[in-house]
Amino acid sequence: MNPILPGSKIGVLGSGQLGRMFAISARRMGYRVHTYSPDRDSPTGQIADVEVDAAYEDLDRVREFAAAVDVVTFEFENVPAATAETAAQVARVRPAGDVLHTTQHRLREKTFLRQHGFPVTRFQAIRSEKDLAQNDLAGAFGAGILKTAGFGYDGKGQYRVNSPAEALAAWESMGRQEAVLEALVDFEAELSIVGVRSDAGDCVFYAPSANAHVSGILDVSSAPVPFPASVTRETTEIARGILEALNVTGVLCVEFFLTRDHKLLVNELAPRPHNSGHLTIDACVTSQFEQQLRAVCGLPLGSPEMLRPAAMANLLGDVWSKGEPDWVSALALPEVKLHLYGKTDARPGRKMGHLTATAATAAQAEQLVRAARARL
Ligand code: AMP
Repeated sequence: MNPILPGSKIGVLGSGQLGRMFAISARRMGYRVHTYSPDRDSPTGQIADVEVDAAYEDLDRVREFAAAVDVVTFEFENVPAATAETAAQVARVRPAGDVLHTTQHRLREKTFLRQHGFPVTRFQAIRSEKDLAQNDLAGAFGAGILKTAGFGYDGKGQYRVNSPAEALAAWESMGRQEAVLEALVDFEAELSIVGVRSDAGDCVFYAPSANAHVSGILDVSSAPVPFPASVTRETTEIARGILEALNVTGVLCVEFFLTRDHKLLVNELAPRPHNSGHLTIDACVTSQFEQQLRAVCGLPLGSPEMLRPAAMANLLGDVWSKGEPDWVSALALPEVKLHLYGKTDARPGRKMGHLTATAATAAQAEQLVRAARARL
């Protein structure tokens, strides 16, 4: 494809922090950014040239939005399929809408992965009481996690269940919607890798990061990981396979469980920059957001090389529980960088920003970023 050059207009569906960091990269390289979501004064809108505030279901507005830009991308994979399809009628959309379709639904995503031979956690589709009655919880699964099939993120819509009776109660409480029952994995670590595929099919991969979650929400990521090189090689090869099988033009994050005997199982895909890749802004030659821009514009990809080990700690709304955090104290640590997303309502559990620290080793960076956050 002919590259979309600086000065062109990029449309972003969604307006959260991922769009904001994308827009910062795009504006730095001289692009114009338009964002579309049902919100106003959004994290992306504060940086964008144009903020369209309309419903995703308002397909006339979507068409108008897409017609005004040179390429459309998204920062939020739960954009309805009809929205992406409408945009694609009038503009180039990258990654293409079928990537969204597969990855916005856990059951489709897991089925796709299993059919293509990628290693996934054992799972079963739950669409009826009969499915639940036939589940393997009492037998091979031991314990499981019941997850809604659609529109889940950050541990939302998930229930740990230990028996068929608990599974039924959990399924009732999610309104008997389509769900996935997964075996509970006794993992040693959670890892993720961000990969990028250009329009020409070239791929680059960041160093995988080790991720610690609290209440199903990412808390701290650090890279590089303290595991044998074979683990890194395998995550890279799996991510390459998935980028190709899904025919992605753009960024894709693959989240893994690393079992105690060092087997990798894919947990989840995100067809966009990912929270665990935020440290690439401060630690790598090219950030994951600049790579998204380069990929969707048909430009050559940048180097993903890590310049220094790094760690990232999320700042949830909870950090504001005692008033304005003590930024000065955290920033007194000179290797710590502050990123805030421009959100005014600091609700508990809401991602408001993050801190990144770089150091001589990932362990030191993690210690530093945790210390900085504790000072807030
Ligand atoms: P998810 O939204 O599916 O990525 O789940 C959020 C977090 O819940 C994961 O990062 C894990 O920490 C935990 N989790 C999800 N599924 C499983 C599982 N099958 N076994 C163990 N932990 C899980």
